[in-house]
Amino acid sequence: MTDLPIIVIGGGPAGSCASALLARQGHSVVLLERERFPREHVGESLLPASIPILQNLGVLDEVKRAGFTVKRGATMIWGADREPWSWHFSETNASNPTSYQVWRPEFDAILLNNARRAGVDVREGRQATGVVFDDAGTAVAVRCHSTDGASTDGVSFNGSGAETELPARYVVDASGQGGLLSRQLGLRQWDDFFRNLAVYGYYQGGENLSPPDDGNILIESQAGGWLWHIPLRDGWASVGAVVDAATGQQGIRELGPLGFLESQVAAAPRLADMLASARFVSGPEVLRDWSYRCKSLHGPGYILAGDAGCFIDPLFSSGVHLALTSATLAAAAVTSALDDPTIAEPAGQVYQQLYYKEYGHFRELARLFYSSNRTADSYFWEARRLLDNDPSLTPRQSFVQAVAGQPARGYERAVLSHGLAPAAFGNSVAAVESERQRRQERGLPQDFPLRLADGVLLQRQPVLSDDRFVWGVGLVTDGHPEGLPCSALVAQLLARLNGRRTATDAIADLCNGMDPDAIRQVEPAARQALQILYVDGAITT
Ligand SMILES: Cc1cc2nc3c(=O)[nH]c(=O)nc-3n(C[C@H](O)[C@H](O)[C@H](O)COP(=O)(O)OP(=O)(O)OC[C@H]3O[C@@H](n4cnc5c(N)ncnc54)[C@H](O)[C@@H]3O)c2cc1C
Repeated sequence: MTDLPIIVIGGGPAGSCASALLARQGHSVVLLERERFPREHVGESLLPASIPILQNLGVLDEVKRAGFTVKRGATMIWGADREPWSWHFSETNASNPTSYQVWRPEFDAILLNNARRAGVDVREGRQATGVVFDDAGTAVAVRCHSTDGASTDGVSFNGSGAETELPARYVVDASGQGGLLSRQLGLRQWDDFFRNLAVYGYYQGGENLSPPDDGNILIESQAGGWLWHIPLRDGWASVGAVVDAATGQQGIRELGPLGFLESQVAAAPRLADMLASARFVSGPEVLRDWSYRCKSLHGPGYILAGDAGCFIDPLFSSGVHLALTSATLAAAAVTSALDDPTIAEPAGQVYQQLYYKEYGHFRELARLFYSSNRTADSYFWEARRLLDNDPSLTPRQSFVQAVAGQPARGYERAVLSHGLAPAAFGNSVAAVESERQRRQERGLPQDFPLRLADGVLLQRQPVLSDDRFVWGVGLVTDGHPEGLPCSALVAQLLARLNGRRTATDAIADLCNGMDPDAIRQVEPAARQALQILYVDGAITT
């Protein structure tokens, strides 16, 4: 049984990342990829949040050597003001102030080869057609066939279209938008807010923005939707238009995909200028209705990562980041499940919460951006306007917590200064911010007993520790429904906040019995932890 491999379906960023990390753990891993690499793929603009993951995978130097365009931030023509405005990663991310605009066939091949080097048995030209479950509902095998008749892996397929069944110890579905398991199990829930369509292609020989923004992605809104321009190396640029699905289909029927893309470019004056001397070199491709979330991301013997689990509108270039992040967490969940079957289900739950949370952040942000663009009186923007009395507008506390308390920078804050965010959202952010400000200025109350705020609780749960989930303690708050992992020390300190002890009493009780050296270290750290949690509203008087 334990000799069976983990089978990973799909060799995109999610599959390559998860399989490499699992192989590093000493697991035997087989990856099935239906294409032969390099293969084409949209989604060139990376976020700096992916850089540490690329480093951990050991591919960052190779990515640097590939000579991809260095991306410093984003430039937008969006909102009330038609002047372009830029923001730079350096404003929010001191350790990784840049990212890359990659050529996906090459970037994805770097990741897949890295998985191979880590010991993954990568089988290209192998399409998975279904996951086999046993009577107890556990995934136990993957059915697949050869897409090009070649049998380079010693598995014989009796003629074209013939299938074979590969027994699996665990299945990781990283099949992208194809979503093998989500289709088989009926898990996908489409997002009505983002019924959009994208038509995109590649141009060469146009202009980029002026330095220092020449590596930025440009996002330009227009009456019918918005367009992206991603500067790639060798003078290439990825250019795409996002429009309403129904309007786009009609436009494509009338003008053809390229004619329609050109009509959208013509409606975006800044982008049209940049492409004036460019020629169209590749495409166009059309993709529609692509925002969704699966109602479950794990089950006995299987887990979904990357686009196979969730996909959100590309406005914030979040796809590869979500793929790599979810794959890293999925690999940890699989490792823990194989180590200790009692943690499998709860670790899967925490994995799901963490992926939903990261996904939800980009979703709320995109909704807010769409709804705050009131520059054009058009069907597209009208249909995507959130009204102040719309119950779905109520900003989730976690999102407000994420945007509040930061200086005016980053996408989150930009919508408040450049867009026309609904008043309810602005008021809610202002309320959270002023409460944080008040607590910050007042400092941790010294003379009043402290307790956990209403709705906040400490619970035993799986927490991430390096490359796996282990049993630990999480602090569940409005902003962290998944449970913020607490060190043992902080958990012990918080357990002492029973509404009868002041901060000083709780810290003294915690230090009781420790030697003086330990007390000297623990005291300030404990006080600082209480101060942070007080400002965050997790503890109160
Ligand atoms: C219009 C648009 C623009 C985008 N722009 C950006 C952007 O600028 N930045 C960004 O970060 N993201 C962007 N994205 C999102 C990004 O492309 C994806 O989120 C990312 O590629 C997800 O990685 P993945 O590994 O989950 O899936 P994929 O990269 O799609 O990889 C899945 C792999 O699985 C293989 N496969 C599928 N089915 C099977 C099967 N049955 N058997 C075997 N193999 C299979 C496929 O061939 C593929 O290689 C964009 C998406 C769209 C639609």
